[in-house]
Amino acid sequence: MAQRLMARVTCPNCRQTFGMPLEQILDVEMDPSAKPRLLAGQVNQAVCPSCGFASILEVPFIYHDPHKELALVYMPMAAGRTDMERQQAIGALSRAVMSTLPQEQRKSYLINPQVFLSYESLVNRVLEADGITPEMIQAQRDRADLLKRLLAASTTEERMAIIQENEAMLDESFFRILSLNLEQADAMGLTDAFQRLMEVRALLLEQTTVGRKLAARSRALQALQAEPTREKLLDLLVEAGDPATRAVLVTFGQPLVDYLFFQKLTRRIESETDEEKRKLLEALREEVMGIREQIRAQAREEVQAKLHLLRDLLASEQPELLAHRRLVELDDLFLKVLASEMEEAQQAGDQETLSRLQKVWRLVIRILQEQVPPELLLLTQLMEAPDEETMRQVLEANSQMLNDSFLALLEQVVQDMQARGEEEVAQKATRALEIARTMTPARPEKKRPPQRPSGLVMVRG
Ligand SMILES: [Zn+2]
Repeated sequence: MAQRLMARVTCPNCRQTFGMPLEQILDVEMDPSAKPRLLAGQVNQAVCPSCGFASILEVPFIYHDPHKELALVYMPMAAGRTDMERQQAIGALSRAVMSTLPQEQRKSYLINPQVFLSYESLVNRVLEADGITPEMIQAQRDRADLLKRLLAASTTEERMAIIQENEAMLDESFFRILSLNLEQADAMGLTDAFQRLMEVRALLLEQTTVGRKLAARSRALQALQAEPTREKLLDLLVEAGDPATRAVLVTFGQPLVDYLFFQKLTRRIESETDEEKRKLLEALREEVMGIREQIRAQAREEVQAKLHLLRDLLASEQPELLAHRRLVELDDLFLKVLASEMEEAQQAGDQETLSRLQKVWRLVIRILQEQVPPELLLLTQLMEAPDEETMRQVLEANSQMLNDSFLALLEQVVQDMQARGEEEVAQKATRALEIARTMTPARPEKKRPPQRPSGLVMVRG
């Protein structure tokens, strides 16, 4: 794998100099954040630690998406090299990607990567591969602009005027942009912006057709959450005005949609005297069966994808490399599928297949264990400890890990579990925290954010 280069950057705003690592390979299979970061214009973005000014460094990188067979090289003119040097740099980038790939994944598209002189044109190529046209991008921009105007308007009257003029643009995609902005403002602690976004949202939920539909959808879901019974689901489905709401209800209430549910629905149909209403109920039955079939088909597809990955792992000459590349796909479902394949081989008395599957199993488990930060492993051990004595022993055995950052993690667990109403776990974590505190030497109070060398990120509510 290519080394991580460091760059010395001089802030164009305040002239402060600082170092930052350069990204040369963006591989969406190995790093699912690569694509969103690319699209957000954050690749090799230098943010000045002193004044916060952000600028993009014009340095070459390669973007690799093996599933779409995309190998795209960003080679800005500012890299200022001769043709020959540029060609060599492009070759070096594609070779660097190849070296991370198992043999069977080294395909010809990598030998001739597409080269882009501007960041924007590369982004457009990535979007195009997703079936996103320039018109669609423009439509998104228009909606983002509209949101800005709504936020800038200072009175409800002004906002109402903007809403009335632009009703056609206030669709579900607009509401998605609004939600994303809300999440971002919330995550960044921008209380003011959050407040204004909530105001705009409340107004739109009341004043637009789509808004009223979305509000009704969320009310229906809440009603089902409050009373998750077949009877309630049936009532809500009958009341629901639009197909999307019914689909959400069936998806969310999936465990309720069983034989008994259809029996209830059939009984309702049979006892309905109004011809018109009976027809509607019959159509509803068809619709619910269709949605359920869709959900099942999707689940089958997911299992198929895991089986496919399993076959690839069995066939690969470098299964370990492949497993590392496809790490995000090695989830619970994958392990379930693998386990059931092993069971099948065992029942069939197929020793050879069984032992090959077991080899994959051991490999995957080992790789997954390597991924778990040691702090999380310790936390799991503590939560699984049957009594306080065991807890104390576990903590003593790991005393070198009992630092500020681990204590902060425990505190966070206590808070989260209390918030979720998991009293038992919260109490256990509290006890672990108390014991751990008695073991950590008193240190002068240091005010710095907890650092997690293992890369564990804590989400604060
Ligand atoms: Zn600066």
